[in-house]
Amino acid sequence: MFNTGNKVAKMVGFDLFGITPCKHFAINEQAYLDWLSKGYNSTLEYMRRNLDKRFNPSLLVEGAKSVIVCGVSYKSEISGGYDSQDRAKIASYACNRDYHKSIKKMLQTLLKELQKIYPSLEGRAFVDTAPLLEKQLAVEAGLGWIGKQSLLITPQYGSYVLLGELVINMESDKYSKPLNGVGCGECRRCLEACPTQAIVSPMVINTAKCISCRTIEAEQKERGDLHGWIFGCDECQNCCPYNRKALGHTNERFNPLFDPREISIDDWKQMSAKEFEERFGTTPLKRAGLERIKRNI
Ligand code: SF4
Ligand code: SF4
Repeated sequence: MFNTGNKVAKMVGFDLFGITPCKHFAINEQAYLDWLSKGYNSTLEYMRRNLDKRFNPSLLVEGAKSVIVCGVSYKSEISGGYDSQDRAKIASYACNRDYHKSIKKMLQTLLKELQKIYPSLEGRAFVDTAPLLEKQLAVEAGLGWIGKQSLLITPQYGSYVLLGELVINMESDKYSKPLNGVGCGECRRCLEACPTQAIVSPMVINTAKCISCRTIEAEQKERGDLHGWIFGCDECQNCCPYNRKALGHTNERFNPLFDPREISIDDWKQMSAKEFEERFGTTPLKRAGLERIKRNI
């Protein structure tokens, strides 16, 4: 299962692959409950739901034995490519086709291919929508470690990586091992680079302050400087030394569809709903919608 899965995952366009057994992540559960108790989820109420399932994939999918974790790079010329005076910045993942659909398709192809070899294999694909502890699963599956900005960092592709998981009903002949001997070390660049001090301490984010949450998901209780970001924020990634040397994406599904540096604030303000749909309807920007983007401006 391990070697075959790895080979097929690369064939369907993933850069990274690992398998980890299902288990209960008690340490993460405690840290998460502490984080919630401090109110750092702000208005993101969905983060309080399904707490039991979030830390135990076997409760999310009946009969689950293992989790296949796959990752794909989306690093492009937009990742880390803004000047300090840019005022209509968009997180680089959002300049691509919506990754939920692309990755789900890739996971489903991976599952179908594996089912040809293992007819009793069943699995469910997840991309960032179910209460699944995907970053910790990626750590367990040997893809990388969780950086101080709370994102997965991989040695080859840095943090410009999108994840997808297949929760399956089979045990693997071999499981991945978490990486040893790599990590953030003494570096604190992301904590220092965050323009709103949203990284309260290593791996602890206050979503009420985080521009990424404030421009997309959270209801803004207060107006505050968004530092030129109108959808998402990449500041804590752009400063990371692992991202500077990270390899760029090679999977064409993750080619940027537009360059935010070519769209001015006035262009955005004057944009009609029809034009927005035509130009950005297949990208993650649709999730926030044009009115939200105009409000962010
Ligand atoms: S996304 Fe932006 S605001 Fe949020 S923690 Fe990172 S640098 Fe700070
Ligand atoms: S900037 Fe430094 S501390 Fe932050 S995630 Fe990257 S390596 Fe870790």
